[in-house]
Amino acid sequence: MPELPEVEALVRFLDERATGHVVVAADLASIVALKTFSPPLSALVGGTVTGASRHGKWLDLGVRPATAGAGAGGTAGGAAGATSAVPDDELHLVFHLARAGWLRWSEDAPTTPVRPTSSRGGVRAVLALRIRFDDGSGFDLTEAGTRKRLAVHVVRDPTEVPAIATLGVEPLGPDFTIAELSRLLAARNQQLKGLLRDQRLVAGIGNAYSDEILHAARTSPFRLTRSLEADDVAHLHAAIRDVLSEAVATSSGRPAAELKDAKRRGMRVHGRAGEACPVCGDVVREVSFADRSLQYCATCQTGGQVLADRRMSRLLR
Ligand SMILES: [Zn+2]
Repeated sequence: MPELPEVEALVRFLDERATGHVVVAADLASIVALKTFSPPLSALVGGTVTGASRHGKWLDLGVRPATAGAGAGGTAGGAAGATSAVPDDELHLVFHLARAGWLRWSEDAPTTPVRPTSSRGGVRAVLALRIRFDDGSGFDLTEAGTRKRLAVHVVRDPTEVPAIATLGVEPLGPDFTIAELSRLLAARNQQLKGLLRDQRLVAGIGNAYSDEILHAARTSPFRLTRSLEADDVAHLHAAIRDVLSEAVATSSGRPAAELKDAKRRGMRVHGRAGEACPVCGDVVREVSFADRSLQYCATCQTGGQVLADRRMSRLLR
């Protein structure tokens, strides 16, 4: 799953390549991917891209419609006239790539009609949405796997998406101070790993970068947030900033197709169970849960203590 650094790189890429271009097609292949119905997806067609931005792990493509009411069908007639379209009102195509979603950029996007994709999917990534621009370029949003979680919204204001409205602090932004991290840590006593992954508390960090941050901070994923001393908080704060900004620097400027590999290569412990910790040489260990796992180094993070792997102990019982 792309996290803050990869999404930031995609945003910078899209901002550079798509801004100023006119959307000539917005074709939906997977009905379940589109979570909104008004404004319709077709309202983007004819509009000009104003820029790309990021909200946590969400991408936001701003599109200024050609003329008011020029979108397919204009304003939805029967709805008691509650919302009339404001001329030049910017639209936002916001999407979340979820676990198995991806964005594929093409300088020469296919112009053949998009056919609805089977919801069965399987391992192969299937097309969910295709956007084409006036210079022939464009991108596909695809998703692999059977659980379709890729979410696309067309809204006038990104905060109309509940998951965006409730996003926590942006960890690379000016509001993420040591004092703010202290406040988050004290608000509820929970495991550090859980806090870092909670989008309502800190936006943009997922399973991979939380493993990396905790390794850089030399602390246990299961450590309780209220047990951190002032020095530990400063150390964790620095680790969050360093790991994320380093990853942003590594990913930015790369084409979308290379981001997954770049992410994987940059990982020190995440996804590296059984390999040697690059810091101390101890073996990287894993704790498995029902649908995910975490990796850590016992020497670096838990004073040598091996954390219980519930799935393993259940199997061994
Ligand atoms: Zn280590």
